[in-house]
This record gives sequence, C-alpha cells and structure tokens, in this order.
Amino acid sequence: MEVRRLVTRACTVCEWEGQAVEQGDRPTAGCQWCHAPTRVVSEELLVPIAPGRNPFAAALSRLGAARGGRVRAERLSAARRREIARAAALARWRRG
Ligand SMILES: [Zn+2]
Repeated sequence: MEVRRLVTRACTVCEWEGQAVEQGDRPTAGCQWCHAPTRVVSEELLVPIAPGRNPFAAALSRLGAARGGRVRAERLSAARRREIARAAALARWRRG
C-alpha cells in the first residue's frame, strides 16, 4: 500500500510555503515562486479510512456501534422505568 503524505514545504530562499500531497519517493518539489529547493516543514501521514477495507477500523466501528446500541437500550429502559414509576405515582395520587 502506498502511503500518502501531506507535506508542508517552505522555500529555502523566498517566503513561499505550501502544502501538497506526496506519494512514494518523489524528488523534492521546488519552490513554486522561485524554483529554489524547499525544505519540509511538517509531514502528516494520510491514512485512508475506508470501512470494510481496513479490518481494524471495521472492528472498531462495529465495537462502537454495539456499544452505542447498548447505551441506547439502557437509556430507553431507564426512561421506561421512569414512565412506569410516574404512572404508578399518578395512580396512587388519584386513588388517594
Ligand atoms: Zn522560493
């Protein structure tokens, strides 16, 4: 798999600075203004996130989905419990 990098470069001569996505071992890109050599200011790896293609990411999202589902069920049951308690209190109040 080719790793793409978001590279921020600055010119060694002028004030030019720019970002570009670079892939593999391309020769160092020159300054877009004066074509002088540039230096790398910062570099970020761009990791493609494609559900189903990355088994680790897919497992994580499944885990998250399952967790979200369980939390939702707990909240629903808590709300249902409150509803039941309210109905019971109301019934008691009406009777009394
Ligand atoms: Zn320059």
